[in-house]
Amino acid sequence: MRQPVTAYLGLGANVGDARAGLDFAFRRLRETPGIEVVARSAYYRTAPVESSGADYTNAVAELRTVLTAPDLLTCLHAIEAQAGRERPYRNAPRTLDLDILIYGEGRMVSPSLTIPHPRMGVRAFVLIPLAEIAPERVGADLLNSIREQVIERLD
Ligand code: ADP
Ligand code: MG
Repeated sequence: MRQPVTAYLGLGANVGDARAGLDFAFRRLRETPGIEVVARSAYYRTAPVESSGADYTNAVAELRTVLTAPDLLTCLHAIEAQAGRERPYRNAPRTLDLDILIYGEGRMVSPSLTIPHPRMGVRAFVLIPLAEIAPERVGADLLNSIREQVIERLD
């Protein structure tokens, strides 16, 4: 049996009922063998970044998982598909986007999987919810660098 690894996921949705999309994702993650959801942030609302359409609802989840990073990504893609995710073009609006932000100490770079997520350090919609559940992972300088991005905590 593999040792469990701590991983962080970024969740986002901006098509249809975005909160329901995130609720669905959390339910499916909890049901997935090999994944334990340890913590989750509040939901946040942000304007689209490099994307279009309605405002996004975003959150971050902390997992313990015995899945490898590629197997975890396969599970995430399956959950996105079940939520009706379509990819008509790059950065299109989406019913559900599930990204691996951090996977243990893992570092990898390939087109199908780059860890840590290459853009997580410039996105308030990742860093603010991540800082809520794992403040030790988001330094003050990083938080300061995204202070101009508008993000609203939902209850
Ligand atoms: P976005 O980059 O906006 O999240 P997609 O969800 O359509 O767009 O992802 C495009 C591709 O990015 C996926 O097919 C996936 O293989 C790849 N990818 C690379 N690194 C990661 C990661 N850390 N988490 C999730 N997907 C990733
Ligand atoms: Mg994605």
